[in-house]
Amino acid sequence: MHDLVIIGSGPAGLTAALYAARAGLNTLILEKLNVGGRILMTENIENFPGFFPAVSVQVLIGQMEEQVKSLGVKIEHEEAIELDVGLKTVKTDSKSYAAKAVIIATGAKPRKLGVPGEDRLTGKGVSFCAICDAPFYKEKNVVIAGGGNAVAEEAIYLARFAKSVTIIHRRNDLRASQILQERLKENAKIHFLLSTVVTQINGSSKVESARVKDVNSSKEQDIPCDGVFVYIGSQPDTFIVKDKLKLDETGFVITDENMVTSKDGIFACGDCRKKSLYQVITACGDGAVAADSAYKYITKVG
Ligand code: NAP
Repeated sequence: MHDLVIIGSGPAGLTAALYAARAGLNTLILEKLNVGGRILMTENIENFPGFFPAVSVQVLIGQMEEQVKSLGVKIEHEEAIELDVGLKTVKTDSKSYAAKAVIIATGAKPRKLGVPGEDRLTGKGVSFCAICDAPFYKEKNVVIAGGGNAVAEEAIYLARFAKSVTIIHRRNDLRASQILQERLKENAKIHFLLSTVVTQINGSSKVESARVKDVNSSKEQDIPCDGVFVYIGSQPDTFIVKDKLKLDETGFVITDENMVTSKDGIFACGDCRKKSLYQVITACGDGAVAADSAYKYITKVG
């Protein structure tokens, strides 16, 4: 029996583990992939306070992992496949872990365009991770769909390798922060196709073009390209708590400000929960609060 099982090892899960271990809770993290989660798809973070001009994600996550391990937190590389919210047991393929409290820190995964060709050509020119795949596109032409901060950062990253990067966005204005928009405009390799959506991705064994539609005129055209990168937001990775915790209509876990979910002893933090600002710093803040709430729940304090 552990005091606390945390599902997920992104910045939220790792910070929860840090605070829990420092409070004396015997803490286990279950992580199905790599420690760090989806932030590993980014190279540097420029808006984590105290790190100027930026901190490398590899360095930040590496330090966080070392820090929790030094406090005795165990990290098992297993996928949590079932949660009993009453008994607070988490099942993986091979084991069942019992705990006094559970923190859901499962994060979010990339949202897909849902157009023909996207699934078939994923890994063959369609990518959701510029940091992983950009080096394959040296001197090639790529398009990138989306209009938020992620698209802006990843377009700039891709432009270090590619011959041209065309941002395709469904509205006329990007929602990326001003500072990022200015950097996009200054980059001669970056072009824009606004008020435009991708309707199909073409190619037999690899991406050859993206079919796009002007949303005003409905005119379609094929844009020849070697890669299609997709950055159109996130979908919470919350299948394990579907029908078990209160979720919003898109699957984000509903919590109060103390990260308390609709079930006793189950807490949620980071990108898997419904909130107004999805950032590494807010994930860390959530993690600290979730651990404190779990501690108070377990020790019946407060
Ligand atoms: P986001 O901010 O939610 O933006 C998603 C973009 O994709 C929006 O521009 C949206 O268009 C567009 N979109 C959504 N569904 C679409 C569809 N079906 N077809 C075409 N376009 C679609 O997501 P994100 O940029 O991936 O970032 C995720 C979160 O991480 C955000 O909260 C973001 O602020 C944060 N983040 C922060 C930083 C940073 O601070 N440096 C860096 C990266 C990410 P509309 O604008 O028309 O809705």
